[in-house]
Amino acid sequence: MRILIAEDDQVLADGLMRTLRGAGAAVDHVASGTEADAALMTSTEFDLLILDLGLPRMHGLEVLKRLRARGNSVPVLILTAADSVEDRIKGLDLGADDYMPKPFALPELEARVRALVRRGAGNAASLIKHGPLTYDQQGRVATMDGVMVDLSARELGLLEVLLQRTGRLVSKDQLVERLCEWGEEVSNNAIEVYIHRLRKKIEKGPVRIATVRGLGYCLEKIAG
Ligand code: CA
Repeated sequence: MRILIAEDDQVLADGLMRTLRGAGAAVDHVASGTEADAALMTSTEFDLLILDLGLPRMHGLEVLKRLRARGNSVPVLILTAADSVEDRIKGLDLGADDYMPKPFALPELEARVRALVRRGAGNAASLIKHGPLTYDQQGRVATMDGVMVDLSARELGLLEVLLQRTGRLVSKDQLVERLCEWGEEVSNNAIEVYIHRLRKKIEKGPVRIATVRGLGYCLEKIAG
């Protein structure tokens, strides 16, 4: 899961990044409204935007307005000052999905982030079932026939992306985008290696990751 944080309070941003990375997300951070706007125009691979409204250079509400005007429906969690009821209402009217008044407890934010990302991916439930394979998005645990599969953080990330798009082609570039933060060097070759390892661990019975030559991968649908 890939998250963009737009927050000019560095201490708060650091805390958010630590928490969300600890939960297995790839997290990028910008500290102004204009940077947030630019990042959201360039990449459509974010699973969630955490948006502070009081941002320098472009107000958070303007960032949100422009985002939705481009037809981008990425889930947005806005961060507001505790007393700014008006901003909160405006934000929700402009298409924010949820809000957190500051100050907030990080575990609560983490829970809301999980719920928003699940909803955004079209999975209201925390468990994704795929034949004998089950993936718990909340606990980040995969089981095969009820037995836990030992997967690295990268492999879990890959599996999550593929499961969220079962039956659809996911390109290597998309995988790199979904899994890696800015400045992280992960080549397409590395993706091949991760896929190879993941296959060895989960390809049992009807579970199969198909290679679409030159294009990418697809977790094949299971009939019935
Ligand atoms: Ca601020």
